[in-house]
Amino acid sequence: MNVVYNFSAGPAMIPKDVLQQAKKELKNWNQSGSSIMEISHRSDEFIQVALEAEKDLRDLLMIPDSFTVLFCQGGARGQFSAVPMNLLGNDSKIPDYINSGYWSNCALIEAKKYCRPKSIFITKMINEKISLLPIEEWNINKNSAYIHYCPNETIEGLSIYQEPVFDNKIVIGDFSSFILSRSINIENYDLIYAGAQKNIGPAGITIIIIRKTLIEYYSKISPSILDYKKISEHNSMFNTPPTFAWYLSGLVFKWLKKQGGLKKIEILNQEKSDLLYKKIDNSDFYINRIDKKNRSQMNVVFHLIEPKLNNIFLQEAFELGLTSLRGHSLVGGMRASIYNAMPLEGIKSLVKFMSYFENRYG
Ligand SMILES: *Cc1c(COP(=O)(O)O)cnc(C)c1O
Repeated sequence: MNVVYNFSAGPAMIPKDVLQQAKKELKNWNQSGSSIMEISHRSDEFIQVALEAEKDLRDLLMIPDSFTVLFCQGGARGQFSAVPMNLLGNDSKIPDYINSGYWSNCALIEAKKYCRPKSIFITKMINEKISLLPIEEWNINKNSAYIHYCPNETIEGLSIYQEPVFDNKIVIGDFSSFILSRSINIENYDLIYAGAQKNIGPAGITIIIIRKTLIEYYSKISPSILDYKKISEHNSMFNTPPTFAWYLSGLVFKWLKKQGGLKKIEILNQEKSDLLYKKIDNSDFYINRIDKKNRSQMNVVFHLIEPKLNNIFLQEAFELGLTSLRGHSLVGGMRASIYNAMPLEGIKSLVKFMSYFENRYG
């Protein structure tokens, strides 16, 4: 079989080296004679895996000791509920929800079950390009309980690279498709959460990086499995954690360190996305309608000038091993999700195919 470059938005590609290692030790992990899936999460051996995963994640993101890392379940959508339930409790204060696209809007809709969030739209059209307002122009409420935003809208391919720096404000980020794509200053945030299946590992584990002081916002209404305090008191093992996903995510963290950490990854992600956007910009056949400063490095959305050719494009790409390029149904066109595990060669193959396809049908 030819090499396959899988551009799926999530669950997405996992580094080949990581899969290789998991395969090698699948049936006999750590000389135990069992797979890691068959070992107690309370065993010393698994606890070691869990602690190492946390340490490696802390090293990669330079997470200060004033933050706790939680490994949970329920995905990012679980956090859409957990955030207001944990942080507001019976408090009637109003949180601000920055509305930049599909996922941030989903978080807002879910929050409405628990409070009366204020929706703040930040999208505007400039010269027919979709642009997001810089944070200085976000119309936030001085007294809001917190700000929730999404730095990478996975479906629209929109990113906010500016870090949200506000005085005396709790800042919460849905980092599902942004986490580990570049280095950030954790101190600018109070709570970051991310489902694993985009840029970390298999679906089923959700990572939360939370400022310790926030954990004390104990909530009576939160189900125990979404209660930050409870999860933290039990070292993320209040209920049985998704052990395989945790282990595999740990292998991905080690792989990232081996690549040179986030500074290196960041440069590579820039190079990868530049290559693809350059191809799109240098052609009259492909279009991207997003302001350059808000273009996602993780999810590159583009349209064919002739949508009738979409299915032929997808079919021919698939035959060459370039898979899962169909855009989300809300946006149409194509979407190339190029998370950390996508090698530069994958982008080069796609660009080459795009040139060929344009010459043939353009
Ligand atoms: C995929 C995604 C979600 C949903 O994640 P689940 O783990 O399926 O709940 C939420 N937010 C963003 C930004 C995403 O990319």
